[in-house]
Amino acid sequence: MVANLPPATGFLAEIRQDGGRPLAPVFASLGRRATLRKRTGDQSLRTVLLHSGAPDGAHAHARGRTLVLAGELYNRAELLRLLPGRALPGSDAAVVLALFDLYDVHAFRLLNGRFAALVAAPGRAVLATDHAGSVPLYVSAAPGRVLAATEAKALRDAPGGRPVAARPVRGLPGTHQVPAGTVLDVDVATGTCGAHRTWAPSPARRTMPEEEAAGAVRRALERAVRVRAGEGTPLVVLSGGIDSSGVAALAARRAAGRIDTVSMGTEEAHEFAQARVVAAHIGSAHREVTIPAAELLRRLPHTVWAAECPDADIVEYLLPLTALYLRLGDPGRRVLTGYGADIPLGGMHREDRLPELDTAVCRDMDTFDGLNEMTPVLSAVGGHWSTHPYWDRDVLDLLVSLEAGLKRRHGRDKWVLRAALAGVLPHEVVVRPKLGVHEGSGTASSFTRLLTDAGVPGDRVRHAKALVVRELFDLVVAGGRHPDEVVTGAVVELVTARLASGTR
Ligand code: ATP
Ligand code: MG
Ligand code: MG
Ligand code: MG
Repeated sequence: MVANLPPATGFLAEIRQDGGRPLAPVFASLGRRATLRKRTGDQSLRTVLLHSGAPDGAHAHARGRTLVLAGELYNRAELLRLLPGRALPGSDAAVVLALFDLYDVHAFRLLNGRFAALVAAPGRAVLATDHAGSVPLYVSAAPGRVLAATEAKALRDAPGGRPVAARPVRGLPGTHQVPAGTVLDVDVATGTCGAHRTWAPSPARRTMPEEEAAGAVRRALERAVRVRAGEGTPLVVLSGGIDSSGVAALAARRAAGRIDTVSMGTEEAHEFAQARVVAAHIGSAHREVTIPAAELLRRLPHTVWAAECPDADIVEYLLPLTALYLRLGDPGRRVLTGYGADIPLGGMHREDRLPELDTAVCRDMDTFDGLNEMTPVLSAVGGHWSTHPYWDRDVLDLLVSLEAGLKRRHGRDKWVLRAALAGVLPHEVVVRPKLGVHEGSGTASSFTRLLTDAGVPGDRVRHAKALVVRELFDLVVAGGRHPDEVVTGAVVELVTARLASGTR
């Protein structure tokens, strides 16, 4: 049920036998808040839902179990076939709970979606991410108490949790991030937890004739775009590169085909001309947003606050998008992106050798988890819901598994995607070389200049960026500061002084 926005985009949930004091619901995401309370046996569930107007669609109850869902499903029709003879569940939350009744934790192996979920059952707290962990989920578990939230900062004041089989969050002792494609099954009385993997990227590669591969990619992507487009007019964040242009073109070819597109740039760099070619071709209502580089850099704290990511490279990709989302206005848009296509296709890999290409794909698929590149919070800070068709479970499974020679072919990167989209985009777009979002928007160069102007030597810039981003993380995530109060320039000065004095 993909309406304009999912019923809920985030939550803070507390399952307690200890009767402790509730946490304050602190989120970067905008959204209305509704509090849901349930008692099951000797445990209480208290959930604050970040919702978009119909919070009841975000939870379901049956047989003493409550399910809370932030996000949405993309294979609903297929899932309903598993529930014959039952009253058809209305919401995605009800579908997942009905499947949980049948399959227990294995229900999450069936889902293609963008979600974080919690099931509160007698004595149990079950926490699940989608295959890509694209809606981050954090947990703090201790005997008698399981606290979970879609933003780590909401667990900042959680009393110490015990170790669980998940990644600790920097600066928040006892808080862990549920891995991508994982269900954690927590015994509430003891706080002990078992983990089940529900998805892993394929290590195998498939060979296919060119046309068959291109056709399979085209069909998978078409479906992924269609199920994400929603009921209103979707908005595609468009660079004019092949990834976002493909999403925009396929969105515009749906039955109810109207779409809006928007491109961002700075006074220093933009891809406006390239995006315009695409917008004109597909007939979208197109907008250009110029964000001064100085304003862009002021959004660094907001980007780290939203993504809860301590990795400088990733933050540099996400900064221009966050700045754009904050500028969009008209909250409540459903935003489609071309984000993430380069990971399974090795698009960042600018050379011709196949072993190196597949090595890069394997490495990136092994290391994406926990970086929060796909988090919906980036757009939620502006009140929007974003979704990424290239990381649809079926699209991703297909793209990862294609043999490297289909990804790099006839001297082109992302060949199979370009071939898949040849019929829907002008030739110049189909063959346009890859340009990273951090490059085309002048983000990387502006950030570099901010540091060199502050006196950082050229060969220390990368290190200084890493320090700035980590410092920002410590302030706005672990430290609980609001990003409006954090001045990028002051953090740069601090880091520069530390570097100069050799402290780090
Ligand atoms: P390519 O990777 O071939 O350059 P692309 O530009 O679509 O294609 P990225 O550069 O990887 O993809 O950027 C990731 C995504 O971020 C894009 O697919 C698009 O949705 C969004 N994006 C990138 N640059 C801009 C921009 N200048 N304005 C709006 N959205 C952008
Ligand atoms: Mg790309
Ligand atoms: Mg990319
Ligand atoms: Mg690009």
